[in-house]
Amino acid sequence: MKESVVDSLATALGKLPGIGKKTALRLAFALVDNRQLASDLSTVLAETAAGVRECVLCRNLTDGEVCETCLDRSRQNTICVVHTPADQRSMEDTGLYRGYYFVLHGSLAPLDGTGPSDLGIPLLVERATSINAREVILALDSTTEGEATCAYIANQLESRNIKVTQLARGLPPGALVEFADSLTLSQALKGRRGY
Ligand SMILES: [Zn+2]
Repeated sequence: MKESVVDSLATALGKLPGIGKKTALRLAFALVDNRQLASDLSTVLAETAAGVRECVLCRNLTDGEVCETCLDRSRQNTICVVHTPADQRSMEDTGLYRGYYFVLHGSLAPLDGTGPSDLGIPLLVERATSINAREVILALDSTTEGEATCAYIANQLESRNIKVTQLARGLPPGALVEFADSLTLSQALKGRRGY
């Protein structure tokens, strides 16, 4: 039997992160109920599919060749390196950082065949050198892959005399030492500061 429109819609929606089967079906029924919303969404989705690409300087998503952030000359001469465009948004939303960004779109994973050039690391090095970056801040996930990626990038940049820093690591607020895993604890120990 041919899949119904609602089912194929639910299948497509279910591929989005954080959307389970039930939610996907609920959203699909909501869209079938609200034709105007479905139509508006389809327009935006078509524009997204056709127009969004990676900025040639920072690899963040943009609809032009160079993104708004890279074009903003009032920004500080620093680069914040993140895994994903969503991470970039989170950093920007803190309101505390006013420099440039670089989006890797992943982590180093040699076993899966993801190497430095897949993450645009040569482009990052080129960018940091060309703007003579005062500092490159690594805002990467505190996971084994994230740490390996940080170490690789730091090595590449420091050998060119560019200052590299990393987001503070360690125990999150409210964490109990007894239950912290060894990676978190070792990072907390390394990152200890004066009291
Ligand atoms: Zn850009």
